[in-house]
Amino acid sequence: MKQFQYMRPSTQQAVLEAINKPGTKIIAGGTNLVDLMKRGVTAPDKLVDINHLPLKSIAATKTGLHIGALALNSTVSENSLVMQKQPLLSMALKAGASPQLRNMATVGGNMMQRTRCTYFYDITMPCNKREPGSGCGALEGYNRMHSIFGASPQCIAVHPSDMCVSLAALDAVVIVSGHKGERRIPFTEFHRLPGDHPEMDNHLAKDELITGVEIPDNNFAKNSYYLKVRDRQSYAFALVSVAAALDIDNGTIKQARLAMGGVAHKPWRLIDAEKALIGKSVSEESFKQAAEIAMQGAKAYEYNSFKLKLAPATITEALKHASGLV
Ligand code: SF4
Repeated sequence: MKQFQYMRPSTQQAVLEAINKPGTKIIAGGTNLVDLMKRGVTAPDKLVDINHLPLKSIAATKTGLHIGALALNSTVSENSLVMQKQPLLSMALKAGASPQLRNMATVGGNMMQRTRCTYFYDITMPCNKREPGSGCGALEGYNRMHSIFGASPQCIAVHPSDMCVSLAALDAVVIVSGHKGERRIPFTEFHRLPGDHPEMDNHLAKDELITGVEIPDNNFAKNSYYLKVRDRQSYAFALVSVAAALDIDNGTIKQARLAMGGVAHKPWRLIDAEKALIGKSVSEESFKQAAEIAMQGAKAYEYNSFKLKLAPATITEALKHASGLV
């Protein structure tokens, strides 16, 4: 591993000044970054440890729930306010990684984690995300874990987070701080599709720091479910996951939120399927129709065509759980 400098500032201003320099990376829990450094995927000159910043709080606001960027995944998943107001987030967090990793990983770090595409981690293979212009090893390679929505000829990787799928479904907002002040980014616009620049995972500027996320109050607490399908029951990334949240009145759906993980370069919100559910009765038939709408435009590669069947089945099943049908 390349030698690097390490600093641990105690003020946000000092962090912002430090990250403005090239070759600098922020470290919090380090659960992804340290792996990337050990494998030579990334080689920063300086690490800025932000763990001394006061960004760990979880608090109700007038309009929702604020979660600091340094709140640990395990703490958030067990927090009573989160479990009461936003159980979908708690479920998604508990489906992610392992207990040991959740005890180290932070909310901000979870959002910033890189894809788990094996070609990205193997520095002997071509990868446009790791080395722009080198090609994409997965395109003609073993692409079983890869995307079925929103890919480009430059990259077909998927975003690995479970937490982010639930936050996209729940209309969360990302709060970031930079030299120009504070900025609020809708969660669904934080991560980006690969396009011609797969090396960029999101829209965070180089001199900006994530300080927290806010989830607006909603009526989904009673009818939410996070369903993750993976190769083993723990410590595995999603083949497909679905965050489903419903507001049901007398058996009729008033509002719906749906997002998928394991299928795109960003958490994949299913707006058309949500619209199709409004006014429908709670039934397997309504859920299957929504799932069919959600799959429009899906495109599989050589080894991941199973996702074309797995994804709609997972959407239907998640909605059945969320609605109480099962
Ligand atoms: Fe790299 Fe993306 Fe291709 Fe994977 S899918 S090898 S991350 S360019």
